[in-house]
Amino acid sequence: MLSDNLLAIQNSLPATVKLIAVSKFQPIEKLQEAYNAGQRAFGENRPQELRDKQLLMPDDVEWHFIGTLQSNKIKYVVPKTFLIHSIDTPELLIGVNKEAKKVGRVVDCLLEFHIAQEDTKQGFSLEAAVNFLNSDEFKSLENVRLKGVMGMASFIDNEDVVRDEFREFYRCFNVMKEKFYPTDDSFKELSMGMSGDYKLAIEEGSTMVRIGTSIFGARNYS
Ligand SMILES: *Cc1c(COP(=O)(O)O)cnc(C)c1O
Repeated sequence: MLSDNLLAIQNSLPATVKLIAVSKFQPIEKLQEAYNAGQRAFGENRPQELRDKQLLMPDDVEWHFIGTLQSNKIKYVVPKTFLIHSIDTPELLIGVNKEAKKVGRVVDCLLEFHIAQEDTKQGFSLEAAVNFLNSDEFKSLENVRLKGVMGMASFIDNEDVVRDEFREFYRCFNVMKEKFYPTDDSFKELSMGMSGDYKLAIEEGSTMVRIGTSIFGARNYS
């Protein structure tokens, strides 16, 4: 049962790690079931689906956006989202800042890093992220706040490779922390780990795991 899966995972996590229930493509009934079992943080990856589910779920849900975000869809995500994990270009953060200003919010975000070998993956290199945070443009953004780093490991069945990738995300997090937020306690999140690899991710320093399939079962994409 969904609530058994959820509670088993919840109970297996260290207290320092937040569970984000990735409910993309799942019907609202399943989110309600997870909510009734005590889950409050949910992750979605399609802007309109997120907006629609926000209208149907109670106000104390903490919404996480974890997907690709095109500039014309930023407006669906900004008003109620707790944390955007998937900032993968300077332009996207600038666009989020602009929408956030319109609605009078400061939106918390993570920078997504690209490490995995698969070139389908998106995100900053360490060098690009450092250059961006050094820029005057970044320093002028008043309606977004960076809370940390997000990464996705390769989808492969090789624990050593996946572990090395998580270590590299941890290194990126540390470099950013030391260079730009050495005394700012709010830059503290390292979002990494999914159903197949979250135990490894936690061993390598994750503070947020994004788990869908192991809670809700397979997604129905049709
Ligand atoms: C879908 C998704 C997840 C959850 O994946 P599962 O394998 O179902 O746990 C985590 N993170 C991102 C960015 C996703 O798109």
